[in-house]
Amino acid sequence: MNEPYYSFNKYLREKFGERVHRISIDAGFACPNIDGRLSKEGCIYCNNKGFSLFTGKTKDIRSQIEESIKYYRQKSGVNKFLAYFQAFSNTYASPEELKEKYDVIKDFPEIVGLFISTRPDCIDEEKLKIIAQYQKDYLVWIEYGLQSANNSVLEKLNRNHTYEDFLKAVNLTRKYDINIGIHLILGLPWVNHENAIKEAKLLSKLDIQGIKFHLLHIFKETKLHEMHKEGKITLMPEKDYIKLVCDFLEYIPENIVVLRLISSSDPKMLVAPLWMNNKTSIIAAIKEEFARRKTWQGCRVKK
Ligand code: SF4
Repeated sequence: MNEPYYSFNKYLREKFGERVHRISIDAGFACPNIDGRLSKEGCIYCNNKGFSLFTGKTKDIRSQIEESIKYYRQKSGVNKFLAYFQAFSNTYASPEELKEKYDVIKDFPEIVGLFISTRPDCIDEEKLKIIAQYQKDYLVWIEYGLQSANNSVLEKLNRNHTYEDFLKAVNLTRKYDINIGIHLILGLPWVNHENAIKEAKLLSKLDIQGIKFHLLHIFKETKLHEMHKEGKITLMPEKDYIKLVCDFLEYIPENIVVLRLISSSDPKMLVAPLWMNNKTSIIAAIKEEFARRKTWQGCRVKK
């Protein structure tokens, strides 16, 4: 059966003809929103522990890749992998250091893609030139943490970058033909349904190739956790999330890859909402909602 949205799995199968697994890597990069260059507090929801099997531990990149390949080969019989530089801001270093760290993937013929997650204010032409060189041998994507297209919401999240910074990064990145994924938070208490759909319409016009949804959730040891304890944060219920994802995707062109429908979280660190970790049933509910409506991703995009 055809899926009502362009899933990341489908995209990878089209590219490689088989299942491909993503390996999350903590390459030891820092973040300007934590190290004091922009702030020391970080984003209000951020606690980078639990991002990958290895985050917070001191394994080098090579060992992380070796162990993950072994683990996922045994677990799922997968033979191709994407190296996903995930923890913190993976372009926040000198061009030389970036090259040295990304180059580790060259020792692993099983790796077919380089995915780099970063902030939109941590990129420039020099870095993009380095990243662009990997396109000859790898599928290359940069994922920019946008979170919201509204500057006042970005301020509430203590992101310390603007929507305009993001637009600049998009324009620069597309000059080098590098694929762009955007990371967006849904369920923010300061963004009502109408404004979320306005964001969908705005983003649908950009030259981006993928979108990744993140449900706002409360992680222990974060500023958001304190705000939640003080009763300042209302979280989105499951049924509203399902509806919002469908509404949102109806405005997103069908050639934009849905990199993720819902985030999951380390159960030891998650405070709420606990329903978010029922990923399989949430994805099934989103598909059922599309079927009930008889709609699909992009069905409301004006041609
Ligand atoms: S930019 Fe990313 S790593 Fe840095 S504080 Fe925000 S969420 Fe955390």
